[in-house]
Amino acid sequence: MGTLVDVVLYADEKIAPVAAGQAFERMIRVEKAAHPSEEGSPLFQVRQGKGVKIEGDLARVLETAMNVSRATSGAFDPTLGEVVQLWGFGRDDPRLPGLEEIEDAIDNAGYDKVPDGQCCPDGRDIWFDLGGVAKGYSVDVAVRALKEAGIKAGIVNAGGDLRSFGVRPRRGYWKIGVQDPDNPQELAGVLEVKEAAVATSGDYQRYFEEGGIRYHHILDPATGYPAHSGVRGATVIAPDCATADALATAAFVMGPEKGLAMLESWEGAEGVLITDDGKILTTSGIGEGGIRFERREKTSD
Ligand code: ADP
Ligand code: MG
Repeated sequence: MGTLVDVVLYADEKIAPVAAGQAFERMIRVEKAAHPSEEGSPLFQVRQGKGVKIEGDLARVLETAMNVSRATSGAFDPTLGEVVQLWGFGRDDPRLPGLEEIEDAIDNAGYDKVPDGQCCPDGRDIWFDLGGVAKGYSVDVAVRALKEAGIKAGIVNAGGDLRSFGVRPRRGYWKIGVQDPDNPQELAGVLEVKEAAVATSGDYQRYFEEGGIRYHHILDPATGYPAHSGVRGATVIAPDCATADALATAAFVMGPEKGLAMLESWEGAEGVLITDDGKILTTSGIGEGGIRFERREKTSD
């Protein structure tokens, strides 16, 4: 999934490495299952319009993806595979595609091609790209494995998409930095959470520049081009990390007003949105229920 994964456990030193090993194994399995280009994989077959049985982790991650997609009227759209592939953000050589290529690829996409109430199409060729949700889902799977192995408290962090569980010894809560989009080495603020999943989508995470323009990896499904909604960073807290991951991508695409309203109405979700003009917007539940957010003064500009 193109990221480093940190696992921190508060546990007996004999069981901790074994448990961490099991968690990593489960994450790797999710990575393989969710990859649309893994020859012979279910998603590869779906891409070719073959009806295949989808079950287990893949069914669950698709279910979360389609749930968020429908609830955001496609701001989060997991069917953008062909468009994502054109830009090549996952590869070493991303590039600016031609307008016609993008228009053709957009015609082949569309979350509404998946029948209502189903997580995947029967017999329609859809190119799923789960890059906006699979990392979060793999964090959930890792946490489940750790709990099954008897670990009582810890945190799994996949490049900023993370989930904490149990009571952190001594402090009792977890501190999570929210990056400043203008200066990603610095923090715009710090979140304090107890048991929670947190995910961030930002235009500073993966991008290339051409002709003085920054092209980042979060696409507006309406145009096939990087979304310029007024949000530069969206951090979402949710009960599970797959949902937090997908909601962060959706809020980024929807923009400050609609994104914040969507997060307000999502049961169990909270969010911090950083806008183009440097404003920090937070949902009303922050400051309640064990979630705090503290802004940091900028040290440079
Ligand atoms: P990150 O991968 O940095 O955690 P995101 O969770 O925001 O960031 O996911 C971005 C990835 O999701 C892209 O690389 C692409 O694979 C996919 N993607 C891009 N735009 C969308 C979108 N509008 N809806 C769903 N997935 C998207
Ligand atoms: Mg995401």
